Amino acid sequence: MNKFSLNSVDTLRNKKSNSLMYQYTFWYVINLLLVVLLIGITLIVAVSLFLFQDMKNDLTAVQTDLVQIANKQPSNQWEKQIDYLLYPEFTKFNVEMKNTKTGEIAHSQGWEKIITADNSKFHYLTIKNFLIIKDEGLFYKHQASFGQNGKIIIFAKLSVITDFIKLMINILIVTTLLALIFGISFILFITKRNIRPLLSITTAVNEIKSISNLSGGVPVPEKPQELTDLGTSINRLLFQLHLQIEREKGFVSDASHELRTPLAALRGHINLIKRRGKAHPEILEQSLTAIDQESERMQNLIHQLLAMARSEHYELELVDVNMSELVSDVLRTYWKEDRNITLELNIDKDIHLNGDVGQLSQILIILVENAQKYTESDGKVIVELTKNNKEVHLTVKDTGIGIPKEHLDKIFHRFYRVHKDRSRQTGGSGLGLSIAKQLVAFNGGDISVKSEVGKGSEFKVIFKK
Ligand code: ADP
Repeated sequence: MNKFSLNSVDTLRNKKSNSLMYQYTFWYVINLLLVVLLIGITLIVAVSLFLFQDMKNDLTAVQTDLVQIANKQPSNQWEKQIDYLLYPEFTKFNVEMKNTKTGEIAHSQGWEKIITADNSKFHYLTIKNFLIIKDEGLFYKHQASFGQNGKIIIFAKLSVITDFIKLMINILIVTTLLALIFGISFILFITKRNIRPLLSITTAVNEIKSISNLSGGVPVPEKPQELTDLGTSINRLLFQLHLQIEREKGFVSDASHELRTPLAALRGHINLIKRRGKAHPEILEQSLTAIDQESERMQNLIHQLLAMARSEHYELELVDVNMSELVSDVLRTYWKEDRNITLELNIDKDIHLNGDVGQLSQILIILVENAQKYTESDGKVIVELTKNNKEVHLTVKDTGIGIPKEHLDKIFHRFYRVHKDRSRQTGGSGLGLSIAKQLVAFNGGDISVKSEVGKGSEFKVIFKK
């Protein structure tokens, strides 16, 4: 057998011994045996002690009577009196009564067997006063004396106790076997019934060969509840994955579409220059301006796509950020002075926040650049930073063109643009706000927008402190 097949046999064995059915059966058998052993031993010990005590009471009574016989009866009457005393009630006792001085001696019937045994040949085992005698069983040896030289030896046969122990062992064996047969059958039945839905879930998961059929899901059993929950959770996960994949697919096709448009425009202008540039030099000027605009648009788009890809795999570095300083610094660097738009700042001092410096700056840049892009010359952009006990509010308001109500909930979607032409002119990609929303969420905040067409827009970011 080669290494591979050896390994697979091992794996198979492991699989079997790890299976739920095997584990349940194994632990059931162990527990059952332990319980039976514990109950059995306790019962046997308790009842045996009780029976032994009972025998000892009889033994004391017999011994008292024997002493009386020895004292009151002549020795030739002893044997008769002993038998009279022992039969039929106390046949478990075998007695020898003797006077060591005079040599008078008397035995109960059946003493011979014991005496031979007592002479040692047939003792199997002797522990303290207990001894096992061949063909006779377990005995308890008791000695007492009477008068000055009298001696009584009593062998008590413990057959009641040994019979009881034998009976108990038989009962325990039979009940254990029955419990094993019924218990194991029951476990097999129950686990098989409960595992069947689990197996069908596993089969369904194995059958999902490609990510395209994720939405089909797995069968959800009605019971047991744990498997219903498992099936539901797997389906929820599959559905989320399906949505995610669909979103990614959409994103890729949107992104390629977005890139295709400026590329087509670039190629168009290049062809035009090639064909007619020499004859019509004025075309050159126009086309170069268009090429400049389109290539800037592509540059912006690629820049945004990169920012988005980076933010998805970016490891947040949350630190204490002085937002008041950050807002001033960002505006100093990124505010474009080339258009006649007034910037008004209402920034409260020393507002701190736990967040990622790079991402917080990026959010502000996106909002301020948009405010500038969609505001006419002579307009105004107001940036406010305030706080209360629990939150920090960053607001970017403008007196720009505004956003129609029906678009408000969509402007945070990727590639969504309300003002397509204007966005095109300003090099907008439709990605800025979706990136901003993502970054705000990473930093534990929320972004909302209010706007009125022709009057302006207000983007508010609320960060929890
Ligand atoms: P873009 O790169 O096109 O600006 P954004 O995701 O940043 O992409 O914004 C999505 C759309 O929302 C924009 O195309 C624009 O139509 C609209 N928008 C964003 N900010 C403003 C604003 N301050 N005023 C008016 N419209 C805005």
